[in-house]
Amino acid sequence: MERVYNFSAGPAAIAQSVLERARDELVCYPGRGMSVMEMSHRSSMYIEIFDETKALLRQLMHIPDTYEILFLQGGATLQFSAVPLNLTKAGRADYVDSGNFAHLAAQEAMRYTQVRVVASSREDNYDHVPTEFAWNADADYAYITTNNTIYGTRYTSIPDTGAVPLVADASSNILSQPLDITRFGVLFAGAQKNIGPAGLCIVVLRKDLAGFENPLCPKLMSWALQIKNDSMLNTPNTYGIYMAKLGFEWLRDLGGVEAIYEINQRKAALLYDFLDNSRLFKPTARPECRSLMNVTFVTGDKDLDAAFVKYAAERGLVNLKGHRSVGGMRASIYNAMPQAGVEKLVQVMKAFEKENA
Ligand SMILES: *Cc1c(COP(=O)(O)O)cnc(C)c1O
Repeated sequence: MERVYNFSAGPAAIAQSVLERARDELVCYPGRGMSVMEMSHRSSMYIEIFDETKALLRQLMHIPDTYEILFLQGGATLQFSAVPLNLTKAGRADYVDSGNFAHLAAQEAMRYTQVRVVASSREDNYDHVPTEFAWNADADYAYITTNNTIYGTRYTSIPDTGAVPLVADASSNILSQPLDITRFGVLFAGAQKNIGPAGLCIVVLRKDLAGFENPLCPKLMSWALQIKNDSMLNTPNTYGIYMAKLGFEWLRDLGGVEAIYEINQRKAALLYDFLDNSRLFKPTARPECRSLMNVTFVTGDKDLDAAFVKYAAERGLVNLKGHRSVGGMRASIYNAMPQAGVEKLVQVMKAFEKENA
């Protein structure tokens, strides 16, 4: 069977060359006589892979030594709890409510700290990211979601929170565009969108922010303890980290984040240009904050939406159904989606429009 173009929002497509390399090394990692899955996480052969993965991410994101990189489990969602548990000092935090995951993060934080929602686009069904904020200078941290996976919106510039550390959930656009990490106190991302398989969460944090956790913070969620143990307080997701390494190497060989950003802009423009001129399909996110990773659109007719999703699937373009809170369609075009996949999608949309508009 031929591979399809997979527009899933996550777990999402992985570059074919990465999968092929993993296949080639699956049973016998070169020179080691065993699979990466079979290696002890304490063995020097595995530590070598682990250290290389970290170094690659540091290089790709230009992360200075004042920041630590953690490879954790529990997905991005566990960080919704870890953030307030590690950063609460005064007991106040500012949250921007820009989508479903942002909302969930704020809800979770309320269990541990006083949450002040400083901006929200909830009333507009999150069709944009708020850009007017009522930041509080006395907050322990300020929280944003850089890309809203379900609604197809993103921040095109990073809000300025002054001396208050900015915490960001970048699960769905990490490594898709250049990002000045020094603007953030903490940035985290689940791996299953733009990095590799599910089960790994990457946390990049300024070193001086660790060490202030709530005494009841579970050990595994303590950033300070994880830093001290180099993410190996218990067995990490060894294979997921190895897959991330293959993904990072693929991205490096392509020219890094700067190069993929050019490609991502081109890919997204192909879709948005078509949508802006379509007689049938309408984009749902406001133009000024459209995501380069998740492109949401509707026909305005539920049955027609469903018919299109089916029509596309029959042509090898799968997982285009939108999230239930927006309806319609969502094309997730992360780093690993080739331009040819986006071109084919536009072609199929044109054909469907011809038959139905
Ligand atoms: C997918 C996603 C999450 C949830 O990630 P899990 O790894 O399933 O916990 C959180 N935030 C954003 C922005 C996401 O896209």
